[in-house]
Amino acid sequence: MNIETKICQNCEQSFVIEPEDFTFYEKIKVPPPTWCPECRAIRRMVFWNQSNLYRKKDSRTGEEIFSTYPARADVKIYDHDYWWSDAWDPMEFGMAIDFSRPFLEQLKELNAKVPLPSRSVRGMVNSDYSNQASYLKDCYPCFNGGNAENCLYCVAFQRIKDTMDAYAVLDLELGYELYQAGSSSRCFFSSDVENCRDVWFSRDCVDCSDCFGCVNLRHKRYCIFNEQCTKEDYEKNVKALDRGSHAAVQDIKKKLRELYLRLPHKFLHGLHNVNVSGDYVYNSKNAHDVFEAGELEDVRYSENLATGVKDAYDYTNWGEHSELIYEASSCGDNCRNIKFCFDCWPAMRDSEYCLSCHSSGNLFGCVGLRNKQYCILNKQYTREEYEELLPRIIDHMTAMPYTNQNGRTYRYGEFFPPEFSPLAYNETIAINYYPKAKDAVMASGYLWRDPDEKEYEATMGASDLPDHISDAKDSIIEQVIRCDSCKRAHRILDRELAFYRRFVIPLPRLCHRCRYTARLSIRNPRKSYRRRCECAGKSSENGIYQNTIAHFHKSDPCPNEFETSYAPGRSEIVYCEQCYNAEVV
Ligand SMILES: [Zn+2]
Ligand SMILES: [Zn+2]
Ligand SMILES: [Zn+2]
Ligand SMILES: [Zn+2]
Repeated sequence: MNIETKICQNCEQSFVIEPEDFTFYEKIKVPPPTWCPECRAIRRMVFWNQSNLYRKKDSRTGEEIFSTYPARADVKIYDHDYWWSDAWDPMEFGMAIDFSRPFLEQLKELNAKVPLPSRSVRGMVNSDYSNQASYLKDCYPCFNGGNAENCLYCVAFQRIKDTMDAYAVLDLELGYELYQAGSSSRCFFSSDVENCRDVWFSRDCVDCSDCFGCVNLRHKRYCIFNEQCTKEDYEKNVKALDRGSHAAVQDIKKKLRELYLRLPHKFLHGLHNVNVSGDYVYNSKNAHDVFEAGELEDVRYSENLATGVKDAYDYTNWGEHSELIYEASSCGDNCRNIKFCFDCWPAMRDSEYCLSCHSSGNLFGCVGLRNKQYCILNKQYTREEYEELLPRIIDHMTAMPYTNQNGRTYRYGEFFPPEFSPLAYNETIAINYYPKAKDAVMASGYLWRDPDEKEYEATMGASDLPDHISDAKDSIIEQVIRCDSCKRAHRILDRELAFYRRFVIPLPRLCHRCRYTARLSIRNPRKSYRRRCECAGKSSENGIYQNTIAHFHKSDPCPNEFETSYAPGRSEIVYCEQCYNAEVV
């Protein structure tokens, strides 16, 4: 197969399908996509609410419960425990296939009838305000993670303790304001730190302790803004920087940014990879256009995957020993050969077009089933009937496609149309990865919903908070503070205040939602660019960074090219892996 350029059915921009893509599509027996990779990613993302929790009425009891879906979302929910019980039977909603109507139209009707679980949680202790989480104890707004104790405002985590305001963190304790951190303790205001202790305001540091405002350091101790100090000087100078003051913290962050821009950065954040592209990729092989993922093999156009995924395209969120996956969102835990599915786990096999189905195999177009085989539209068939019907339905989906209100045509081979999701664009991770204003979202055919939560009257503005944590009174926890950015009201919890005091951190000026958005803005937008290494021989191309050692290309410019998420024209100095490794040791 040759390389083919197509026009996206959705955005009408051109995109390319490469020979190895065709090989994958043939292997899993799907037609090539009609939407471009970015439009496909957004279409999957509008099903995934990663970090919001709402109050909504239980469709059975009428009681208000915490829910993945907002009150106004057009979906029935059952309380999580009841949903998982045998007290109701999703097969009662089963429908016979009608070959005189588009199949997806019938699946849409079924999807609107079957109740969904209010949340996805297990093993929670005193952590009710959380979602997509397991084994949390004493945690408050924590999402998409597991095995945490006494944590606040964390998203995407495993095995963490006494940590606040962190995203993408593993094996961590006593952390605050972190993005991508692992096997560390007492790290604050930092990103890309691994195996670090007592590290503050630092980026891309490995095996460091007692460092402040540092970038690109390895195996260092007592450094301030990359300058080596004695232990005594370190302690004295850190004290003088006065990190308990909000104004001082702004200066420290500015200085860190200046240092960051004077040093080279690897074209991709990641370690232990062979032949990969994207960003934040770890321990992976032959993985392209993948973001925030680890342990992948032969994967493309996928994001937020962990712990072993093999042979997958267009796969958003989860993973965990899953293979042969195509166009799936929030599926994982030993799934095999699933296509066009949402929220299907664990051990889903040989299934297509399913939503919220579990531990099943050979399902096509089903919603909310558990431990079932050979069902279509929640109706039971024999194996022989199922195998006879399946090719007929696939042909029918192509012969009589579903067309939605935006005029997009869905033949067999497309993920669910966005109207199958009860969520609005701005309630899902689509808004974080592809930020757009309300008008642009609605113009592109997605739903937008303004939040209808109760508005509390603020008793003070964020600018009225004391500059220094030492001036914060106990009574601050009774105040309702207006966020500096979104202007919505928020509070400081007593255990939050205790944390700020213990580690001498100023009170935040932003609410936790705005802090989350700001934290995510550290990462590059999810795009790939073909670029050349910016190492010019003895220095960086812009002359700002002087190399400290001779590189393999001697005094000539480095010939290496790569795919990177650093857009051309950005101010960072971007090096290839060889040049970066020569400098950062
Ligand atoms: Zn497109
Ligand atoms: Zn805010
Ligand atoms: Zn280079
Ligand atoms: Zn070089």
